[in-house]
Formats: sequence, structure tokens, C-alpha cells
Amino acid sequence: MIPAVMPVYSRADVQFERGQGAYLFDSEGRRYLDFASGIAVTSLGHCHPALVAALSEQANKVWHTSNLFRVPGQENLAKRLTDLTFADTVFFTNSGVEAWECGVKLIRKHFYSKGQPEKNRIIVIEGAFHGRTLGAISASKAEKMVKGFGPLLDGFDQVAFGNLNELRAAITPQTAAINIEPILGEGGIKPATVEYMKSLRQIADEFDLLLFFDEIQCGMGRTGKMFAHEWAGVAPDVMCVAKAIGGGFPLGACLATEDAASGMVAGTHGSTYGGNPLAMAVGIAAVDIISQPAFLENVRTQAAALHGELEKVIARHPSIFVELRGVGMMLGLRCADNIVNLDLVNALRHHGLLSVGAAENVIRLLPPLIIGSSEIAEACAIIDKTASELTAASAATQV
Ligand SMILES: *Cc1c(COP(=O)(O)O)cnc(C)c1O
Repeated sequence: MIPAVMPVYSRADVQFERGQGAYLFDSEGRRYLDFASGIAVTSLGHCHPALVAALSEQANKVWHTSNLFRVPGQENLAKRLTDLTFADTVFFTNSGVEAWECGVKLIRKHFYSKGQPEKNRIIVIEGAFHGRTLGAISASKAEKMVKGFGPLLDGFDQVAFGNLNELRAAITPQTAAINIEPILGEGGIKPATVEYMKSLRQIADEFDLLLFFDEIQCGMGRTGKMFAHEWAGVAPDVMCVAKAIGGGFPLGACLATEDAASGMVAGTHGSTYGGNPLAMAVGIAAVDIISQPAFLENVRTQAAALHGELEKVIARHPSIFVELRGVGMMLGLRCADNIVNLDLVNALRHHGLLSVGAAENVIRLLPPLIIGSSEIAEACAIIDKTASELTAASAATQV
């Protein structure tokens, strides 16, 4: 019999009752150090007092009015985001994929409004992840996401990550944009190099394409800069953000320059919930904390310490781990071929550390950005112990 909850997820058999800072507590009272952060969402930890206060205060005022009226929180948060970034304008959504699709629509509309409707194809990256709507799976083309869901949407041309020759060869008079995650998240924590990012900007300018970054996972302070593309010193024309911007409250945003968004006039796009007062209250509080230079500086400092400690753990277990990837607090431990990453994710959880799997046999470590030396030491001790047990167990089975 089909479960009442549609069984599309393979869930671990654990339920959390309470969270505080970097920790979650399950129904049996067990404590877990949360280096999953709900997949890079709870970047300020659980129940951050400023977010709780912002949400509770707004909950006692007004929850929802729709976009038939002005929403002061939207004006407020949009101003903050445009002040902080390349962007001139923002559309608010309830999820990441909606922010990504807003970007796709905006790109198509941009060229349509300019009298170039034939420019409607977007170059996307193999192994990228943009979400689960028909549009986003059509861009991803990954078998596990698209099989049985056809017909897919046309208009996405894939090229290999990091390959500029292939990218240039894929550009036609119909190409409108290049879409990329500056760090592939689900794809295995693969950062684009600075040179690659700079080249993407140059190529976009050369061929009159819009550059569209998906910073849903790597943005919002995750790498130690407000947005990951800042490391490369290049700006996109369009960017989607979500996950950590709501700190756990559903919120996404599509940011764009005035020129890129020139076709987005009244009536062209919308959402009932998008940018509702509750989401805005939390988003403003989250952005205010994360964008502080001292906060980001601390993320970089703690991330450097975490890298250093993880490198030591990896060096002690060469038969388990082969590589540390990533930037800031968006990290991936690539497992050796004979190790199944998800087995290790489960073993780590049994020892009280939450992590997330990713492609290429990677274990993602996405700690809350508020961690300090004690959480770093605890996480590394758990990884070290779990790896030692795994080595001992595989030695025993080989006898
Ligand atoms: C999570 C994610 C999405 C999709 O976000 P949803 O909120 O699940 O729709 C899109 N792009 C990237 C890079 C992501 O990590």
C-alpha cells in the first residue's frame, strides 16, 4: 500500500523534535551536530533568536495579503539585495526552482522584448541541478530526474563543466544565456575556477548572452563571501537565490539587472505566496546578519580552520577519503571507489553527525555558518572515528 506521504524520498529513519544552533535533537533525545543544515538552508543554525523574533513579530501583525497590494517587506528586502549585489530588481518566490524558472522566463522575455525572439536557448552545465519542475529537469537531463516525465521542455543545450571549447562551439544565433552554479552542489561540490568564471563573462559579452548564476546553494555567505561569484570578481546579469536566504522559511529570489529584466512588466509573471510578509520578515533578518562583513570574515576564518582539520582527517584515512573539495563552508569529501558515500553518511549520522550525499561519491559538509572551534573539533573527531571503524570493519571482512 502506498504510504500516505508520497514515497518519493529515501528518508533516514530519524525524526527531529527540536533544534538549537548547530544541533538537532531527535525523538529519543539524541543530539546531532547538523552539518547538513537542511541542505544549506539553516545557515544561521536552528532557532536563531533574531529569526525567531522576526517571524514571531510578523506573525502577530499580518501573514498574507497577496501581491495585489504593496508588501513593505518586499521593498525592504529587495533594496537590501540590490544594494548588496549587481542587481537592480528582485522577484520573490517560495522555493529555489521557482527563482530559477523566473530567471529562465526573464531571459527569454528579455530577447523577445528586444525583437530577437529566436534567442531563446540557454546553455546549461552537465551535472548541474536547478530543481524539480519540468523546466529544471529539462535543463538537467539527468536520467533519474527525467525518466518517465516526458515530453520535456526544449531550449536547453548542455556542455561539460569547465570546458570552454565545448561552450563556444555550442553557441548559436539562438543562444540567449549561459546558466551555471558557480559551485556545483548536487553535482559533487565542484567549484568553477576564477579563470572559467571570467571567461564565461567574456563569452557572454562577446556573443550578447545573459550570464545567469544559480547561487541557490552556494550563495548567502556559504563560501565566506555573500555570493560565491564574488570570489571570481565577475557579476552575472541574472541570479537565483534561495535556501539560506529564508533560514528555513521557504523563500527564494530572482535578481537581475534592469536591462536583463526589461521584459518583466506588469502581468508577465507572478506568485500568490511569493514574497509574503512572513518570508520577508525572516529574509530581512537573515540577510542583515549574513551580509555583515564581520560575520563573513568569521565564516572565512572558521572555514579555514575546518579545512585544515579535515585535511588531517583525510590524510589519516587514505583508503576512505580521496579528496577534500569546496570553498568556505561548502565542502565535499570524495570517498574512495570501494566506499559508498551514502553508507558513510549513515554511519556518520549514527555517530551524531549529519551530512548530505552528492554526485561523484561525495559527502557534502554544509555546516551552519555560526560554527566555531568546538563544533569543528567535534565533527572532525566523529569523521575520524567513523572512518577508523570502517577501515577496521573492511579489514575484518577481508580476512
Ligand atoms: C536546491 C537547489 C535548487 C532547487 O531549490 P528548491 O528549493 O528545492 O526548488 C536549485 N538549484 C540549486 C543549485 C540547488 O542547490
